[in-house]
Amino acid sequence: MSGRTIVVDFDGTITEQDLLDEIALTFGDEDVYREVDEGLDESRLTLHEVLRREFEPVRAPLPEVQRWVLENVRVRPGFRDVVELARKRGWRFVIVSSGFRELIQPVLDREGLGDLELLSNSVDPDPSGWKVAFRTEAVCESCGEPCKRSTAAALADGTELVYVGDGYSDRCAAELADLVFARRGLARYLTERGVPFEPFDDFRSVARRLAS
Ligand SMILES: [Mg+2]
Ligand SMILES: [Zn+2]
Repeated sequence: MSGRTIVVDFDGTITEQDLLDEIALTFGDEDVYREVDEGLDESRLTLHEVLRREFEPVRAPLPEVQRWVLENVRVRPGFRDVVELARKRGWRFVIVSSGFRELIQPVLDREGLGDLELLSNSVDPDPSGWKVAFRTEAVCESCGEPCKRSTAAALADGTELVYVGDGYSDRCAAELADLVFARRGLARYLTERGVPFEPFDDFRSVARRLAS
């Protein structure tokens, strides 16, 4: 194996808070949010169904939500260190997110990292209810719903795959990766499944581990 590819989740991983959750709660309908979130936990709904239903009640104009995002979203310390290390070493670095390009790109631009490679869903901020445009609808053979696994595999293309994530959308791809940094729900899931990972709270420790 030669070379290395780093695939990083956005919400709750690069950012300190989960933007999707917060926007669905702040601009959408809290009851719908709770209901579909429970459906995901109990495997009654796929992540796509959850996102579709969570954002249906959101009617705010996109610029208003983008402003809210820029005021509220913080990037986890050390993120730039990992990006710079990857650049220096010639590792491919890709953000793969279930979030929306329209809300992620402004945060990256603000951080001076607007040229990072980004694969994500996008959103049509229809005033009668936001409509999610999914990056892929292809169902994964491993987990039975559209996920990040085949994307991560294609990006790595035979190089060592490093995966960094925190949640549901990261599970299947993390199980495939050669080295995983996990926190929150993803860490609990991998622990239950006996999949090894490195816990992380900020990207400084990730950068140190990858540099060694
Ligand atoms: Mg996440
Ligand atoms: Zn999968």
